[in-house]
Formats: sequence, C-alpha cells, structure tokens
Amino acid sequence: MNLHEYQAKELLKKFDLPVLKGIVFIENLSQIEENLETLKGPPWVVKSQIHAGGRGAGKFKNNFNNMGGVQVVSEKNKVFKIAESMINNVLITKQTGDKGKEVKRIYIEEGCKIKKEFYLSILIDRNTSQPMMMISASGGMDIEEVAESNPDEIHYIYFSDLTNIVLRKNLIKILDISEKQFEELNIIVKKLIKLFINVDASSIEINPLVLNDEGHFILLDSKISLDDNALFRHPELNELQDISEEDPLELEATKNNMNYVKLDGSIGCMVNGAGLAMATMDLIKQFGEEPANFLDLGGTANKERAVKGFKIIQSDSNVKSVLINIFGGIIHCDMIANGIIEAVKELDFKLPIVVRFQGTNSKEGRDIINKSNLGMTSIDDFTEAAKKVVDLAK
Ligand code: GDP
Ligand code: MN
Repeated sequence: MNLHEYQAKELLKKFDLPVLKGIVFIENLSQIEENLETLKGPPWVVKSQIHAGGRGAGKFKNNFNNMGGVQVVSEKNKVFKIAESMINNVLITKQTGDKGKEVKRIYIEEGCKIKKEFYLSILIDRNTSQPMMMISASGGMDIEEVAESNPDEIHYIYFSDLTNIVLRKNLIKILDISEKQFEELNIIVKKLIKLFINVDASSIEINPLVLNDEGHFILLDSKISLDDNALFRHPELNELQDISEEDPLELEATKNNMNYVKLDGSIGCMVNGAGLAMATMDLIKQFGEEPANFLDLGGTANKERAVKGFKIIQSDSNVKSVLINIFGGIIHCDMIANGIIEAVKELDFKLPIVVRFQGTNSKEGRDIINKSNLGMTSIDDFTEAAKKVVDLAK
C-alpha cells in the first residue's frame, strides 16, 4: 500500500525526523487562506498529492502557465489560485502514463532554501532479508536516470547490526558534507530504519533530502510503501489507504482474499498457485500475447472462488480469451469443473475459455468440461493450452 507524501511525512514527524510544517486540503480548499497564517513563509510550496513521482516536472491536462505539480510560491495571494488550478485537474508525470492522475488532495508546506539535494532510500535487500540503504549526491532528479547514466553515483549501504546503525566515514567525502552533517545524517538514518521496521515498510524514498541554508538536513519529499502482508498488524495505517488511488478490480480481489494483479494484456488467467500462475503468464508471452492479469485462486479454490475470479476477469474490458490452469492437489479437478460451468452459466460468460487440468481427478474434470456444450476447450498439455488461448484471442 502506498501512502501520500503528507501521510508519509506525518509518520516521519512521529519518529522525530526533520520535515517542514505543512497542511493538507482534501477536496476542499476554502480554509487555505486562514490556515496559511500558521505556516512560515514566503515562500510556500504547493504540492499535488498523487501516488506517483515526477510531479515537479509533470504537466497538467488542463494546462495553466505550463506549471508542474509542485510549485514554490512567494506571493501569499497566489497560493490559493495555484492550489485551485491543481485540484480536480489531471497531472501527467513520467510515472502516471498518458492517462495521468486526478489531483484530489493538495499539501501546502513551508518553503525551504536548498543548498544541496541528495537521494536516500531504504529498501529490503532480498539476499539478506534486511533493510539496506541507497544514497546519492545526485538528488532531486530522476534517480532511474542517474542509475542508467551514472550508476557509480549511487551508493549501496548494508548494515551489519540494525540495532546499532553506524555509517562509514567515507560518506563524508562521497557526499561532500561536513563532519557535523555526517553525524546528523547518521541520526536520520537510524530513525528511518527504526520507522521502516516499526511500520513494516517495503520502501521509504526521500528525494530530495536537502541541506538547508543553515546547513541542516531536511526531508523535503517522501514516499513510503507499506508491506500489504503486514498491514493487519497496523490497523491505524490501514486507514490511510486512499481508495481512489487503487485499481478497483484489485480492491475487489483483496476483499475476497485473492492475489490479483491487473496487467495490460488480453488473456485472462485463472490459476491455482502463484508459481503456476507465473509460468502461465510466461507461456502466454512466449506465444506472442500478454496476460491481462495475474490471478491466484489459492489452494482452497472452489466454486465460489471461481465465480468471483470470473467476475473480476469479466469486468476487465481488455480480456479477449481466458486460460484456466488448475493443478488438482487437495482440490479435485472435477469439483472445479462443475464450479467453472456453474460460474459460466451464472454470469453468462461469453468469451472463449481454454481449460487445462492436471492432477487429482483431472480426467473426470476434462469429461465434465467437454460434455458441457458451453464452447469451452479442454487441453491437457500446458504448451498446447497456451497456444490455443493465444489463437482464440486473435
Ligand atoms: P516529485 O517531483 O514528485 O519528486 O516532487 P518533490 O517533492 O520532490 O518536488 C520536486 C522538486 O521541487 C524538488 O526536487 C525540489 O527541488 C523542489 N522543491 C520541493 N519543495 C521545495 C521547497 O520547499 N523549496 C524549494 N526551493 N524547492 C522545493
Ligand atoms: Mn521527489
């Protein structure tokens, strides 16, 4: 789950990290002028809150003065006007795609003079299953671009003892900072790691981390992603979810405890088991089409789940054909076959379907599908099944 910048900053504040004071306005801007009194300025910074980066360099659909989604404003009477032009407008950035994202929330923050910008992020190192840090003196800009053109400018830092974070002094030279600033950075990293572990984050990105004109570090932008699988431990964070930023089909699947990821292709996939689902998507790609989704029905796949899976696939207008790939272990293929038939009838499902069964009662399952007269194709061989579903999509 992704947090908005302002929500992330509330967490940073709780962990005593240096962020500037700001106020969020959700859908309603009428209170801006009186609230501005409580924020130090000029300048103020007006920031569109969407779940995507690159806002500063982004452009609005309803273009005003060619301005981006983050603006430093020095005249008080302009703050409201700019916020008004942003709200309900669609912001298109490098990360949103051409469709852009509608701005529903505006964050107004005290401005800050920037002496130097850095990039800092904390993520999970999959090799050690521990948080690690990426840091760069090339901050403020597109870090993907830095990674591509100047990979040596990004430094990867691993921690031997997470309860006692000690940065190596070579960072002083690498980042061109003073000894005092290095000590300050060490404290910041310590607190960030504590926050990361405490909230079960999957990533924290601060870009830019800046030195202000007094030579102190400020976390000027922040993106926090939380680990969905640990959200049950944090009901208070769960409430921060902005439903309007989520894919409605993914939300529906989550409600039903299914692992569903919406993709852009044309072949709907309904599979039991994550590994088999990945392999199914690979084969579809190999035959020249793209999967419309990842969908793992789970080990308890039954008729009810098949109906829900069909419903989700049916609501995706990109889908042209469907591959059902079931390995019968605990579940029996004949039971699933009956479930599929009931689901197809109940939903009046019209798209071509290829079914592949292996494992427990697969033969009985195939017979049921073949006798159903619903136009479904049953194929035992994985490769042949994938080929067929690709043909049917054309
Ligand atoms: P992003 O484009 O979505 O990553 O949004 P950011 O919050 O990083 O803002 C983009 C850029 O605006 C930053 O890299 C800064 O250079 C600039 N910026 C943001 N806040 C301030 C501020 O308080 N003062 C100044 N001078 N610049 C700011
Ligand atoms: Mn940024």
